[in-house]
Amino acid sequence: MAFELIDLPYDDSALEPAVSANTLSFHHGKHHQAYIDKMNAAIDGTDLAGKSMEDIVVASRGSNQGLFNNAAQSWNHAFYWHSMAAETGAPSADLAAKIDEAFGSMDELKQQLKDRGLGHFASGWVWLAEKDGKLSIEETHDGDTLADSGFNPLLTIDVWEHAYYLDHQNKRPAYLDAVVEGKLNWAFASENLARGSAWTYPA
Ligand code: MN
Repeated sequence: MAFELIDLPYDDSALEPAVSANTLSFHHGKHHQAYIDKMNAAIDGTDLAGKSMEDIVVASRGSNQGLFNNAAQSWNHAFYWHSMAAETGAPSADLAAKIDEAFGSMDELKQQLKDRGLGHFASGWVWLAEKDGKLSIEETHDGDTLADSGFNPLLTIDVWEHAYYLDHQNKRPAYLDAVVEGKLNWAFASENLARGSAWTYPA
């Protein structure tokens, strides 16, 4: 059975002005849809049809770059939509303690997320992730993903230009500031930490 594009977990104006409804109409409705469609076309009639998205990422990594890019980007974008929310909420006590342990404070974590996002050359993703009980900031380039990495991804931020150009033009710092300070979904990060294994794309 083919994968379907997941619905956004909020109204398309919920993230304004950090991320506008206009941006989401293209980023979710066009870009994400295209990744899903291309992945579906690539697995149709093969023995990967019917597998989970995570299995397809693993099976294609290093052996089928075209399929890998579309599967990983399908996963990354779904995870990214959930990584944001209209109201940021608060981290669980466990997550808050791990943030303090790894970064010293929430403010320092936010600063480092912005710095890494700004410093990331060209297209990719910046992640808050957990491994062996410790938090770290990770980066993946282009369509690469942490879905099959051994890290438990807690949150991600898309730093491809298409994530911010309509709202902030070339000003990646303005996008990062608006998302990191006001739209990161700490409840989702807390759920991911509590589960203890990587989020999976809804079947
Ligand atoms: Mn994107």
